[in-house]
Amino acid sequence: MSHKGLLIVISGFSGAGKGTLVKKLMEEYGDYALSISMTTRSPRPGEEHGREYFFVTKEAFEDKIAKDGFIEYAAYCENYYGTPKDYVVSCLEQGKNVILEIEIQGAMKIKERFPQAVLLFVMTPSVEELKRRLLGRGTETEEVIMKRLSRAAQESEGIESYDYIIVNDDLDTCVKELHELMEKSRDKMQASHHPENYKELIENCRNELNALVKGEK
Ligand code: 5GP
Repeated sequence: MSHKGLLIVISGFSGAGKGTLVKKLMEEYGDYALSISMTTRSPRPGEEHGREYFFVTKEAFEDKIAKDGFIEYAAYCENYYGTPKDYVVSCLEQGKNVILEIEIQGAMKIKERFPQAVLLFVMTPSVEELKRRLLGRGTETEEVIMKRLSRAAQESEGIESYDYIIVNDDLDTCVKELHELMEKSRDKMQASHHPENYKELIENCRNELNALVKGEK
């Protein structure tokens, strides 16, 4: 399949600020379309059906799986999340850059299915900061936060499979960097954001997350 648009996958630990980053990127630059996922999780306060997600029942989700309606889907913290096929395919065919904000299992499926996709992983400068942001969000119970941290520990194992790392420290800088990377990413491997150059950060995050999940911190 040859597409003119760029398929951009953005993953990152829950709480790393992917959502804010993508929102700002879309506001500042007109070159992107955002795929709206379908999920079986309940809306958080302020979220709207058709804006953040299409919120559906498990039955409706499974029906769409059976009809081959997703380009990828995954189970994450006891809920389903999936990328509806039609919108993404039509954007790519029209030559638009499409962003998928998805977790790692889905990202790996996209990499297999669309080898030309660009995969980005958003990290916080430290695990301490990640915890602070998750707690600060105030929308999740402690149990949910622990599940998400435990999931982050698992996900930290797969970071090197991504093409680029984005460290979300200062939002404006990050948005600018992201856009510039996308402009250049027709010739993929941009060395400055390659996982190779973030070995220490990745390793520290992984160790701290694992220690945290095991209750050592
Ligand atoms: P949240 O519940 O915080 O909105 O999302 C939980 C995780 O699911 C996040 O890592 C988010 O990126 C991911 N996610 C959202 N939509 C999709 C999707 O369509 N497919 C997959 N695989 N993951 C998704």
